[in-house]
Amino acid sequence: MEPTDLPPESNHPSKEQSTFNTSDVDALRVSVLSEALPYIQRFAGKRIVIKYGGAAMVDKHLKKAVLRDIALLSSVGVQPVVVHGGGPEINFWLNRLDIKTEFLDGLRVTDSQTMDIVEMVLVGRVNKQIVTGINQLGALSIGLCGIDGNLIESRPFNKGRYGLVGEISKVNAEVLEPLLSKGYIPVISSVASSEEGGSLNINADTVAGELAAALGAEKLILLTDTPGILRNKNDPSSLISKIRLSEIRQLTKDGVVEGGMMPKTECCIRALAQGVSAAHIINGKIPHAILLEVFTNIGIGTMVVSSG
Ligand code: ADP
Ligand code: MG
Repeated sequence: MEPTDLPPESNHPSKEQSTFNTSDVDALRVSVLSEALPYIQRFAGKRIVIKYGGAAMVDKHLKKAVLRDIALLSSVGVQPVVVHGGGPEINFWLNRLDIKTEFLDGLRVTDSQTMDIVEMVLVGRVNKQIVTGINQLGALSIGLCGIDGNLIESRPFNKGRYGLVGEISKVNAEVLEPLLSKGYIPVISSVASSEEGGSLNINADTVAGELAAALGAEKLILLTDTPGILRNKNDPSSLISKIRLSEIRQLTKDGVVEGGMMPKTECCIRALAQGVSAAHIINGKIPHAILLEVFTNIGIGTMVVSSG
């Protein structure tokens, strides 16, 4: 908040008044802030990788709320790293250019024409919109993709079964260290280059998971358009709120997890196996979902933990 947004001093109720007139809303605000203290202390100086995509990216108000949460994390000393998708915007441009698109196992089958659009939309447009949005909130962010500083080395996934979809062969996370140490928020598009120099489209969940592992992140948060992992994907009340690493693979085997949820569960598995303490799959349609997850006791969505 800009200092000018603060109410003038004369608007503040006197101490005596506030004892009697504090509204329930004010009381709630203060208790939420107070509840945040141990969480702020716990996460200050730690890294949290946030995958931003899906519905929270389309709605203007939600988008603002997400970026505000990220800026707030940074201003209380947490080091957020943002990895973004851009499915809806890519679909919009593919549609406009009359290019058909197809998903297989939750991944966009990517021919060279589609790759051009993916790269232009993600790296050129979506990335810069997020960076601008964060900068406008008074935090500083820098946009990169996997190609910059060779952050992500990749090769065609599954021998090219999905076209120009890449899998990660190596993450050179040291590229981000000078930025993080200076308080910049890195915003990363999930495009990388192959050894031959062509661009590859990598699922943004996969990038977020590998980056979280390589950066030694405390948490991985995947914002999506469902409440979390559902036992029955058509029934929002069937949310699995906590699941152990040892149980999660079975969900795919049983057909409970499919489509776009597959790369999410897979990246949680990989991140946790490489030392990230917890991964959360949460509903980006809930305003301030990130703050709720990080700074309150409430805990929303699905939390994936190694054990316990
Ligand atoms: P994002 O843009 O967040 O990556 P995706 O469409 O790729 O979104 O992935 C989320 C989708 O995964 C959900 O909208 C839902 O259709 C699908 N899905 C498949 N299985 C499940 C499940 N068990 N629980 C929740 N969602 C699931
Ligand atoms: Mg997806």
